Amino acid sequence: MNNYREWTKEEAKRTFLFDRWGSGYFDVNANGHLCVHPEKENSIGIDINEVIEEMKEQKIASPAVIRFQDVLRSRVIDLNETFSNAIAEANYSGKYIGVYPIKVNQMREVVEEILEAGKPYNMGLEAGSKAELMCVLAYNRNPEALTILNGYKDNEYLRLALLGRKVGRKVLVVIEKMTELERLLELSEKYKVRPLIGLRTKLSIKCAGKWADSGGERAKFGLTTTELIQAVEILEKRNFMDCTKLLHFHLGSQITDIRNVKDAISEGARVYSKLVKMGVPLEYMDVGGGLGVDYDGTHSTNESSINYGNKEYASDVVWGIKQICEDENVPCPNIVSESGRAITAHHSCVITKVIGSIKTAQTDFETTKAEGEHNLVKQMRDVVSELKKENFNEVYNDAIKIKDDSISAFNLGVINLVEKAKIETLYWQATQKIDEMVDQLEFPSDDLSNLQDSLTSQYLCNFSVFQSAADSWAIGQLLPIMPIKRLNEKPNVWCSIADITCDSDGKIDHFINLEEEAKNIPLHELNPDEDYYVGIFLTGAYQDVMGDMHNLFGRLNEVHVYKDGDEGDFYIEEVIPGGKIRDVLSTMQYSPEFLSYRVKRIIDKEIADGNIRPREGVKWVDFYDQCLEEYTYLKT
Ligand SMILES: *Cc1c(COP(=O)(O)O)cnc(C)c1O
Repeated sequence: MNNYREWTKEEAKRTFLFDRWGSGYFDVNANGHLCVHPEKENSIGIDINEVIEEMKEQKIASPAVIRFQDVLRSRVIDLNETFSNAIAEANYSGKYIGVYPIKVNQMREVVEEILEAGKPYNMGLEAGSKAELMCVLAYNRNPEALTILNGYKDNEYLRLALLGRKVGRKVLVVIEKMTELERLLELSEKYKVRPLIGLRTKLSIKCAGKWADSGGERAKFGLTTTELIQAVEILEKRNFMDCTKLLHFHLGSQITDIRNVKDAISEGARVYSKLVKMGVPLEYMDVGGGLGVDYDGTHSTNESSINYGNKEYASDVVWGIKQICEDENVPCPNIVSESGRAITAHHSCVITKVIGSIKTAQTDFETTKAEGEHNLVKQMRDVVSELKKENFNEVYNDAIKIKDDSISAFNLGVINLVEKAKIETLYWQATQKIDEMVDQLEFPSDDLSNLQDSLTSQYLCNFSVFQSAADSWAIGQLLPIMPIKRLNEKPNVWCSIADITCDSDGKIDHFINLEEEAKNIPLHELNPDEDYYVGIFLTGAYQDVMGDMHNLFGRLNEVHVYKDGDEGDFYIEEVIPGGKIRDVLSTMQYSPEFLSYRVKRIIDKEIADGNIRPREGVKWVDFYDQCLEEYTYLKT
């Protein structure tokens, strides 16, 4: 327990890489606490531990989502300014107009903040479904901003788009399929509204990464070259050519390699130029989403990383389009991008308390020789007692063999539980010592490096992976995870994270690392008299909204934090209570009132039968009702 060692900030950085994945928004202060710097380096950070303390004071239970609204603003401004700068540098004749695809995080407060911060830039919104469009129609009130509509569309979806046109919004219907075009033109004629039309093209380039299938010829969305030409013919014939303003493509999310962006821009800009030459009056080229986030901090083409930054992305988009348009001698379009992940990922994190550890390596069982004990126990004791630097490999192999034998022996009824426990204890005691010896080796064999994994603990955290880190479970996405404080103290417990669902998949056992994905991270020894919180970071994109209610663990409590001056002060502007047990039961079609009534009837019967005293029965009924109002997570 007492191997406390002071740790420098540099060591903390090397271990948790927050200077690499944090894009300047995260740092450790003199107290060893993790801080958020909404203005990047040149401000005093908001101490996350202080936010947690404030939450405790306000009786807001963890696990919780903390949103740093200022970080969200900063991301919006940063993207827009970066594009403006790239446009100025390239002396580009078009403008940049961003739209935020709300599927990435539809939370009202997120959308409002983005619109507010994006107002000077006429930032708009993108919808991909009817429900999203209904939201966007009400929220995108700036007549200069764009509303881009993707996804498959039925007639109601198209008619809602026409409603947007009717009230003077720049609503662009992006045609994903030829049948949509037919129906859009019909409805436009019927309701006598001139639509704004976009055409989505399938590019032949396909990029690496987890979302590769969004691009390429077999992509789900978009028109093939033949269909593009047919669409133009139809638009011409039906007199809608003047409405056709935008060319759209989307390669997929989290493009890891900037070369894919460059290639897509070249291909897309060619398509744009050729269409313009065919007489289509395009004004916008929409390069879709895909601007990635460096989750693992490696600045590489790893699936959870990117080998470029916002600046390089913007500059490659702008220069790439300019070059092709000059070559083709057509005017440069206004550039639209639909970056969602890069805007929202950084602003929110999940805070969860470690509520215990699950240790495989039990070492404190009494192993002294007993009268008549089985020979296997003696063998293990003898082997282990011979352990020294010169023979640890041999001892390790022998110990594994005896442990395996003991399992067979136990299953055959030859050894008893106490003997089995002794053998295991001796085994773990030895492996721990071997582990220390292995640590000093420069090139341990694979066998021996696996040993470290077998010795690690699982830290049990009060949250659900399925609700709060869905992509970590579903697609093996890496998210940075680290403690909130004690970062001036060397963490020396290697562990993975287990959640509180009853699902063995409910764990996180892949972590960011500069070399190769790690199965464990170092966390601190738990102090009995101190709460220990772990943060899961960069959860603002997709994770925040995609989670499910596995085991009926519901949505998390949320606090929205704003900075207050430049001294690290902050205030919690809004608290959104997470799901109560009553809420999650209701979504599964149970009536909480009926459940309560049923349980009361059951208790009443026991009272009538004389098994429970009436006074006690009332208390049990009250207790059940009270629990319906509780948070779904553990009360700790
Ligand atoms: C999902 C999606 C986006 C958002 O992509 P990010 O990689 O999160 O920026 C943009 N456009 C379309 C068409 C999408 O489907």
